[in-house]
Amino acid sequence: MNILPIPAFHDNYIWLIETQAGTAIVVDPGDANAVKQRLQQRNLALSAILVTHHHPDHTGGIDELTEHYGARVIGPANSPYPNIKEKVTEGETVEIDGHSFSVLHIPGHTLDHIAFYCEEEAALFCGDTVFSGGCGRVFEGTHEQMRDSIDKLRTLPASTRLYPAHEYTESNLRFALMVEPENEALVDRVNEVQALRSRGEPTLPCLLENELQTNPFLRWDQPGVIASALEREPSAAREAVFGIIREWKNQA
Ligand SMILES: [Zn+2]
Repeated sequence: MNILPIPAFHDNYIWLIETQAGTAIVVDPGDANAVKQRLQQRNLALSAILVTHHHPDHTGGIDELTEHYGARVIGPANSPYPNIKEKVTEGETVEIDGHSFSVLHIPGHTLDHIAFYCEEEAALFCGDTVFSGGCGRVFEGTHEQMRDSIDKLRTLPASTRLYPAHEYTESNLRFALMVEPENEALVDRVNEVQALRSRGEPTLPCLLENELQTNPFLRWDQPGVIASALEREPSAAREAVFGIIREWKNQA
């Protein structure tokens, strides 16, 4: 399996998965033209579309792609996006051209948000829930829901590669440094990311093991993050830390 980013819009990545069968799967194709061009270049037929959630920058290209290729469209059972053909929920497994993806329901950014986990590749397609150094905005769910969803992802093997849908890493890390200025792993990651971006390269996929050491939203229960949150809201309970840093990021 070969996994490549197709850049779209300002900072989206549509992930292209080349299967062993020589077909393609795309994740969250907001832009049909970008996908078509890449498939033509690589001489691939589109077999399936995976949808993590209903936002237009993740679903806008689906109609045109299915008209052109007749691909399967697999996405959340409770999605307000109307054109999902195979509706899936937590715990289900999807088989596509010899590869298996298990479905995790991770509401918070939206209520329909799911992730697709491919165990054989240790690859997680997590949409707008976890980014490198950050997490998605909580539009539809509660902070608690988002935290529980992120906690669920934390239990995956540390060797898991995360494939989020946006290149937000540099600005996320600027905020992460405000939360944990003394975190050495974070300083190392900042340097690595600056080098990648100065060469115009993606900072993704990222490694869960590294996110566990650097991403404040995966570290809401670590002493340094708790201390920074309590500096802002001294009387807050520990359970509120995630929400405090998410609100802080919105204002930063
Ligand atoms: Zn979104």
